[in-house]
Amino acid sequence: MRIVFLGPPGAGKGTQAQRLKDYLGIAHLSTGEMLRDAEDTPLGRKAARYMLTGQLVPDDIVLGIVVQRLSEKDCSQGCLFDGFPRTVPQAEALDRMLAVRGMPLDLVLALNVPEADLNARLTARGRPDDDPKTIAERFRQYCALTQPLIDYYRLRGILRQIDASASPDKVFERIRDTIDATVSSNSP
Ligand code: AMP
Repeated sequence: MRIVFLGPPGAGKGTQAQRLKDYLGIAHLSTGEMLRDAEDTPLGRKAARYMLTGQLVPDDIVLGIVVQRLSEKDCSQGCLFDGFPRTVPQAEALDRMLAVRGMPLDLVLALNVPEADLNARLTARGRPDDDPKTIAERFRQYCALTQPLIDYYRLRGILRQIDASASPDKVFERIRDTIDATVSSNSP
């Protein structure tokens, strides 16, 4: 299965993706995590300049790491995209990458959380890019560039909205039910 997690910063994509990865036994592909892990490389240092101000990292860097990761063996079982794609051009690039491999996307899960809760969650997390100014910029980028993906995937018929304002356990239950329903409706 190939699944995309969409949602604003602080919606719980990372937490839920980790759980879903264990549940489905598929690869977890978080571009934010991969970029943070690359902090000691020239590419990672270039990316950090954008990340620390809440800007999106340029596509040549992001698409490069995704293509490389997709060619790793564990991705053949399926993957969970977390924080990628973040723009319509990235979504189009992902479609092309998956088409070449004959593995289309099955599902896009949009995690919805009221804005007031998001700020509280991010402030509690304490990552270097979780200061108020950077958080505000990441929201701005999300609304301008990532939110259009909701329509992009709705038109494809693979979007499912998840109310993610509850506890992590409850949200995971909703995600699992949605996945199970998709699996059973896709099986012959
Ligand atoms: P995340 O861990 O998903 O919250 O991402 C943290 C930061 O990494 C973002 O604010 C961006 O600067 C960068 N980043 C992560 N994924 C992407 C992506 N798909 N495209 C561009 N920048 C990204």
